[in-house]
Amino acid sequence: MKKLLLSALTLAIAVGASAQQKKEYPKPEAMRPAMTEFWTPQPKVVTPGDIKTDSAPSDAIVLFDGKDLSAWKSCKTGGDADWKVHNGVFTVDKTKGDIVTRESFGSFQLHIEWCVPKNITGTSQARGNSGVFLQDRYEIQILDNYQNETYANGQAGSVYKQVIPLANAMRKPGEWNVYDIIYNAPVFNEDGTYKVPPTVTVLQNGIVLLNNFTIRGTTEYIGHPQVKPHGDGPIRLQMHGDPSEAISFRNIWLRKL
Ligand code: MG
Repeated sequence: MKKLLLSALTLAIAVGASAQQKKEYPKPEAMRPAMTEFWTPQPKVVTPGDIKTDSAPSDAIVLFDGKDLSAWKSCKTGGDADWKVHNGVFTVDKTKGDIVTRESFGSFQLHIEWCVPKNITGTSQARGNSGVFLQDRYEIQILDNYQNETYANGQAGSVYKQVIPLANAMRKPGEWNVYDIIYNAPVFNEDGTYKVPPTVTVLQNGIVLLNNFTIRGTTEYIGHPQVKPHGDGPIRLQMHGDPSEAISFRNIWLRKL
């Protein structure tokens, strides 16, 4: 009887051990775009005052003065930027991909003006979507949010999917919007984490949208920000694949800080 009990006990322990080996824990759910999109609160609408177009300050690096895209190159080919320059502005070519500055930068003050066509169509993110990528990796969203809601952390002036702007300062389609962006580049630890994270201040049409916001990492469409060590990087302008009419840029200059 004793022997029988002992073998039953051994069997139970063995079964228990093998059950423990095979024990499976829940896996994190696969990330989907909507998991990182927040629709509330929507930023309040502030109507911008009239601001005269600024010409570049004397110590600025002029990245576009209305004449040509010589300061830029194509991301796709590495050759000359091939978006169309016309009447002192240039327009995104949706067949040609993103463009980047030839020069790389650390911390800077950037001035850039952009305009969505008067007859723009589409909703949410599919309406005049572009973006300014700081050091080629941190996107300040460009989007037509004039009477066009989207997830609030993907609105014009957001660090894409990281922060809701403090206001919606959009001008109407067909009118020019002005971004003034003050960016401090990060410093990295040896293990690749931020010692000093990047920070950014963004004004649209003279209204503060981001006030010294601490950037958490790369601006991903799907998933969370990634922190990867990098040095100086170019300014990149996004060719977004949405079907709405292409947006235009003018008067782009940068001052190194
Ligand atoms: Mg964008």
